[in-house]
Amino acid sequence: MGLYPLFADLTGLPVLVVGGGHVAERKTAALLSAGAKVRVGAPSLTPALMQQVEENKIEHLPGAFQPAWLDDVWLVIAATDDHALNADVAANAEARRILANVVDAPALSRFQVPAMVDRTPLTVAISTGGAAPVIARRVRETLETELDHALGPLTALAQRYRTRITQRWPDLAERRAFYDWLHDGPVMNLLRNARPDEAERVLLEALDAKEPASRKGSVLLVGAGPGDPGLLTLRALRALNQADVILHDSLVSEPVLALARRDAERIDVGKRCGGRHTQQEQIHQLLLEQAQAGRLVVRLKGGDPFVFGRGGEEMEFLHQHGIAFEIVPGVTAAVACAAYAGVPLTHRGHARSVHLLTGHGKESLDAMDWPALAQDHQTLAVYMGVARLDEFTQRLLEHGRRPDTPFVIIENGTLPQQRVVRGVLQELPAHAKEHAIHPPALLIVGEVAAMANEHAWFGRLG
Ligand code: SAH
Repeated sequence: MGLYPLFADLTGLPVLVVGGGHVAERKTAALLSAGAKVRVGAPSLTPALMQQVEENKIEHLPGAFQPAWLDDVWLVIAATDDHALNADVAANAEARRILANVVDAPALSRFQVPAMVDRTPLTVAISTGGAAPVIARRVRETLETELDHALGPLTALAQRYRTRITQRWPDLAERRAFYDWLHDGPVMNLLRNARPDEAERVLLEALDAKEPASRKGSVLLVGAGPGDPGLLTLRALRALNQADVILHDSLVSEPVLALARRDAERIDVGKRCGGRHTQQEQIHQLLLEQAQAGRLVVRLKGGDPFVFGRGGEEMEFLHQHGIAFEIVPGVTAAVACAAYAGVPLTHRGHARSVHLLTGHGKESLDAMDWPALAQDHQTLAVYMGVARLDEFTQRLLEHGRRPDTPFVIIENGTLPQQRVVRGVLQELPAHAKEHAIHPPALLIVGEVAAMANEHAWFGRLG
């Protein structure tokens, strides 16, 4: 037989917790946050419970359990480590028709406390009926990652306008469409972006409008991280779950793409060398067309969209064309590759600063402040440097960076095929050639790079 699920309104009702230890403390906290009047019965209490007694937040019933403690309570939780006592509490409660929960003893419990995902006023409760609480916990984790935190404020907003929404759309199908718009459209986005006033204004406008609000397209510029799907942010994962269409770079790894909604359309807009400019314009046009068609577009980029990712240009373009956008940061290659090679980018006594550089193209090399970069005790993280390693090294040496400055090159960082090649600056071009480094690869130059020798923990060493 399954359990009958229920959510209880305990506001102002007396509830008894038997036991004064850490479990009782947890149970008390949950009951207090539901507004119950908690009485804790036990010979002694934890310091935290004692403090709540002193602050008049809870009442203490001292001494051993007495059935009279149950006199006017609505619920009881037995949270002692004495099995016989817990069973006695449960039996007394049963006799008085008071629902009892015995912690970790479903057979003795009339009610059970579910695992919970809290997006108040939205609450998800999970129970296995005591069969396997660990499984309930796993399900909770999954839901916890999946359910947007903005669902709380959205539900609260819907609650406040519920009557008006029903009056405005008496027809159920239309009302459902409105709630879909609320959940998928600009109101939810604004709440997520910490703009509750604007969210409310947009909701009010929609209530006053003649036509039902249609869903407007928008673009999320999302950082996919360096490759390991574990390095995606929750926000990026949720975006992938919601996308109608995903425009991704070739750098974005297959395991990351595999996390996307199955029926989302995928377009590989990976840019190859040559004709770069037209390609970027084509991407802009695609973003525009897809958003104007009312779709939720995820523009998925390797690493972080704003670090050598041309995310800035795309943002400006979207802004010029009045398309709503959001930016979801990602773990950029320098940060990720350094971590996965055991190289701290800054380190006391070894590096005071980090420079993120791109070694792509002669102009960018010419534009660099070489005298500054050549100084010691700073870390250089060089993106897209593979083709111009010789020139890069030569200039650094010419400007006085020590020839024995350590370096590491991380190829396919964070992926199972990650490779780390290390050495000192003067041997850099020869080493890179010898090991046939292929993109994507990131170069780190600086005193800290020596630490890769001892602290490698991921993948193989080159
Ligand atoms: N926006 C990206 C960078 C794009 S430029 C970010 O923030 O990471 C592309 C360059 O990033 C590559 O040429 C390489 O130098 C670096 N890169 C990206 N992913 C990488 C990876 N998994 N391993 C090593 N380098 C990587």
